[in-house]
Amino acid sequence: SPLAAISGYVELMTRKPLEQIPVEKRTKAFNIILDSTNRLTQFINDILDLAKLKAGRVDVRKTPFSIVKVLDETLSLFQPLLEKKKMTGKMLAAADLPSISADDEKIRQVITNLVSNAYKFTPEGGTLTLDARDLGEELRVSVSDTGIGIPKEFIGHLFERFKQVPGTRQTMGGPKGTGLGLAIAKGIVEAHGGRIWAESEPGKGTTFFFTLPKAVSASVAPAERIFN
Ligand code: ATP
Ligand code: MG
Repeated sequence: SPLAAISGYVELMTRKPLEQIPVEKRTKAFNIILDSTNRLTQFINDILDLAKLKAGRVDVRKTPFSIVKVLDETLSLFQPLLEKKKMTGKMLAAADLPSISADDEKIRQVITNLVSNAYKFTPEGGTLTLDARDLGEELRVSVSDTGIGIPKEFIGHLFERFKQVPGTRQTMGGPKGTGLGLAIAKGIVEAHGGRIWAESEPGKGTTFFFTLPKAVSASVAPAERIFN
C-alpha cells in the first residue's frame, strides 16, 4: 500500500543523518515516496468522485463540447506512452461530428480512464483505436484495444467498485490500479443521460462504448424551467 511505502522509506531516511546515506539510496527513497504520494492522492480523489456521484451531488457543467477534439487530444497525450510499448494509436472519428452539450472535464476523465485501461491491458505492438459515430439522437464513442480481453463471466461486473479481473497484474506487469476507474466512468456517463458497456473477446481485445445524448434530456429541461 502507498502509505506503508511512505512510512517505511521515511523511517529509513531518519535512521541516520541524511548526509550519511548514499545519494542513490536517498534518490530511490524520495522517488518512491513521491510516487506513493501521487497514488494516494489519485486514490482519495477517486473515492471522493465516486461518493459524490453516488449521492447525486456531482454538478455536470455542460458547455458546447467537441468529442472529436477531446479524442484527438487524448491520443496526442498518450502518444509517448504508446511509442514506448510500440503500440499504434488510431483515430477513426470524422472531423465534422456535431458539437454537443457536455461537461468537458468529466468526459475527458471518462476517455482517459478507458484509454489508460486499453493501454495497460494491451501487450507490446498492439493497437488502440478511438472512434465516435453520430447515431442520430446520440453520439457513440468507442475505445478499442487488441489486448488480453475480459473473461465472459466478468463483463457483468466490470463497472462495480474495486472489481478487477484476478491475476491481471501478473500477466501484464506494471502498477495496479484500484478498480475505481470504470465505476467513475459509468457514474459520469449516466449523469449525462448516456450508457456505457463493453464487448470483449478474451485473447483478442476489448471495445468499450459509451453514448452521449445530443439534446438536453427532456426530464431535466422542464424541471429547470419550472424552478426558474
Ligand atoms: P483504476 O482505473 O482505478 O486505476 P483499474 O484500471 O484496475 O484501476 P477499472 O478501470 O475500473 O480499474 O477496470 C477494472 C478492471 O477491468 C481492470 O482491473 C481489468 O481487470 C478490467 N479491464 C478494464 N479495461 C480493460 C481492457 N481494456 N482490457 C482488459 N481488461 C480490462
Ligand atoms: Mg482503469
